[in-house]
Amino acid sequence: MDIFIAPLKFYSAPLLQNLVTELSKRFSSAIHVIDLKINLEDFFSTEREQYFSTQIIAEAMKLTDKFDGKIILLTDVDIFVPVLTFIFGEAQLNGKHSILSVCRLHEEFYSGVSDEHLLFQRTVKEALHELGHCYGLRHCVDWDCVMHSSPGIEEVDIKGNIFCRKCISKIEGYKT
Ligand SMILES: [Zn+2]
Ligand SMILES: [Zn+2]
Repeated sequence: MDIFIAPLKFYSAPLLQNLVTELSKRFSSAIHVIDLKINLEDFFSTEREQYFSTQIIAEAMKLTDKFDGKIILLTDVDIFVPVLTFIFGEAQLNGKHSILSVCRLHEEFYSGVSDEHLLFQRTVKEALHELGHCYGLRHCVDWDCVMHSSPGIEEVDIKGNIFCRKCISKIEGYKT
């Protein structure tokens, strides 16, 4: 099963390329970058000044029938669901679609100081995490596992960047 990454208002070509390379190392599946015609402004909340991720995923569902595999929408804009202040990502449990925002994975967001290496590590963790949900995984209690919940950036940094043995068994095409 292939993995498709769809950048939407995503501005870092090197980060995208590094993510593709990393996922290619981790999965036996082919990793593709695809162009989806989605206008994110349709999903912008002027009240919250954020983009409504569930609606973005719903729009992507209309456009991606021809892609057989898992799809990650990758964006720089800040995303939300109504009950939460912000989210790093959202995924359909045991489904095809997920979205990941790197907006709050940038170290500048917190300390004002850029750290590209840390941004990459965080992006890999959260991309694997959202993919994990698409493969049917729920949150894991193991802190070494990338499926541990990470509501804030501290948890993203603390948790591991691999799937634990229990989680890994559910992921198709993951190299161990
Ligand atoms: Zn999660
Ligand atoms: Zn796990």
